[in-house]
Amino acid sequence: MRPLEPELERRRAEHLYRRRRVLGSAQGPLLQMDGKSLLSFCSNDYLGLANHPDVLAALQRGAGQYGAGSGSAHLVSGHSAAHHALEEELAAFAGRPRALLYSTGYRANQGVITALLGRGDTLYQDRLNHASLIDGGLLSRAELKRYPHNDLAALAARMACQSGGDALVAVDGVFSMDGDLAPLPELARVCQEQQAWLMVDDAHGIGVLGRDGRGSVDHFGLDDQAVPILMGTLGKAFGTFGAFVAGSEALIETLIQQSRSYIYTTALPPAVAEATRASLRLVQAEGWRRDRLQQLISRFREGAAQLGLALMASETAIQPILAGSAEQAVAWSQALEDQGLLVTAIRPPTVPEGSARLRVTLSASHTVDQLDRLLEALGKLNREMGV
Ligand SMILES: *Cc1c(COP(=O)(O)O)cnc(C)c1O
Repeated sequence: MRPLEPELERRRAEHLYRRRRVLGSAQGPLLQMDGKSLLSFCSNDYLGLANHPDVLAALQRGAGQYGAGSGSAHLVSGHSAAHHALEEELAAFAGRPRALLYSTGYRANQGVITALLGRGDTLYQDRLNHASLIDGGLLSRAELKRYPHNDLAALAARMACQSGGDALVAVDGVFSMDGDLAPLPELARVCQEQQAWLMVDDAHGIGVLGRDGRGSVDHFGLDDQAVPILMGTLGKAFGTFGAFVAGSEALIETLIQQSRSYIYTTALPPAVAEATRASLRLVQAEGWRRDRLQQLISRFREGAAQLGLALMASETAIQPILAGSAEQAVAWSQALEDQGLLVTAIRPPTVPEGSARLRVTLSASHTVDQLDRLLEALGKLNREMGV
């Protein structure tokens, strides 16, 4: 057996070692982390629903009615009325005939790709796609072709070379580490020309973009013809846990029959589905959360520009500050923590080599004062460490 320590040592030496922080409070702007009070700018709770009283009450009611665990997979005896109702509500929300719940977004991506593609088929992916799409592709045994970020010409050129088999283009609607959007109208056009499926992973768009938070596909005015496969996660803007795929009757039935990561895993707790039904109501009814988030994003970008910080081309709640080396990103993150702020450093392989960064995320639950504290701290960091 090979000793494991040398690889761990190498990671330490290269500033790539990951360390878990222990959270002692609910998710929100003010956290207890490792016993310290910190002001957080790194959760994906974009609308501030993770600790909303309506969502918590629904979770408790759901636990009272259904107990703690689902007890089984969906196809055995674990598919509760709570799951079923949530699927119907998510389908209506997404404007599609059907929706299917998965226990996580990671599993949903894996499940869709492996159900639709196999040997002899081709999967096209943006280079900056989320790891779960990449891993789903590897598991499917389809040929994996990655194209440079948002480079439609490169994608079209690769697709023109395909000989035989089915084709699927999978893309993040909002790129998780950069915050920019995929050019969905152009992608839809290329896919229609090449008769390929288009799948959008909208983990960071659903709830946040589009009419009533319907996501990036709706933001671009596209329908289920243009984007036949929509995946959304429920652990980010929805503040709970789980994921869904929305699409045609035939797509959802195919997933129920063939998607191994749907079939061979325990259904998420019904109480969590009840909590998500409450957060879905809030997502749709409380448009002020999206307005507020947008105001904070604008204020952050203006403030950061005044400080002379180089921001990336993102109009979303994800506002990365590029550091370059992992060492630099970790040093900046530590310096912010010394000022009472939690902004995690994101390093390779989560992002490409040489593009380590601070991933600042904003939430409707941040106050303007809290945002100004972040800007002040970044200003200090800029003076002292040249951000
Ligand atoms: C978080 C995320 C996922 C995974 O979702 P989970 O429910 O956390 O497993 C998938 N895709 C993207 C783009 C994500 O950011």
